[in-house]
Amino acid sequence: MAIQRTLSIIKPDATAKGVIGAILARFEAEGLRVCAMKKIHMSREVAEGFYAVHAARPFFGELTEFMSSGPCVVIALEGEDAIAANRRIMGATNPAEAAEGTLRALYADSIGENAVHGSDAPETAAVEIAYFFAGTELH
Ligand code: ADP
Ligand code: MG
Repeated sequence: MAIQRTLSIIKPDATAKGVIGAILARFEAEGLRVCAMKKIHMSREVAEGFYAVHAARPFFGELTEFMSSGPCVVIALEGEDAIAANRRIMGATNPAEAAEGTLRALYADSIGENAVHGSDAPETAAVEIAYFFAGTELH
């Protein structure tokens, strides 16, 4: 295992529910440190750029509409094995399949509106962090 960085996004459904603090507290309790964080409202174009890898998927329109429907909190997290740790804390994409106590089991409404994003690999984590943060903003 190694110290890694990963990108988390608290999605518009979760910011609307008032669970930003609960989600941040969970990350910190699990040993993930906040390197950088900001609240943003993505334009449709910014959401499309972020999820470009999913452009051919049938849910791309729904996904980018949702992600630009309200504010998100974007967070660069750092810690031991942070990418897998964050995925474990998040739970499965579909909240109906997410393990008990995971963020998606606790806070997600549906497979589309599922509370949080987390990078899935070191390469995507680096690209996703750089999409929202300059190197000088990461501490
Ligand atoms: P994850 O966020 O768990 O890595 P994916 O990368 O497969 O999941 O999908 C990206 C996002 O697209 C999901 O978090 C969810 O918001 C949305 N999504 C995935 N599958 C569906 C689906 N079948 N219907 C609607 N939205 C979906
Ligand atoms: Mg993914």
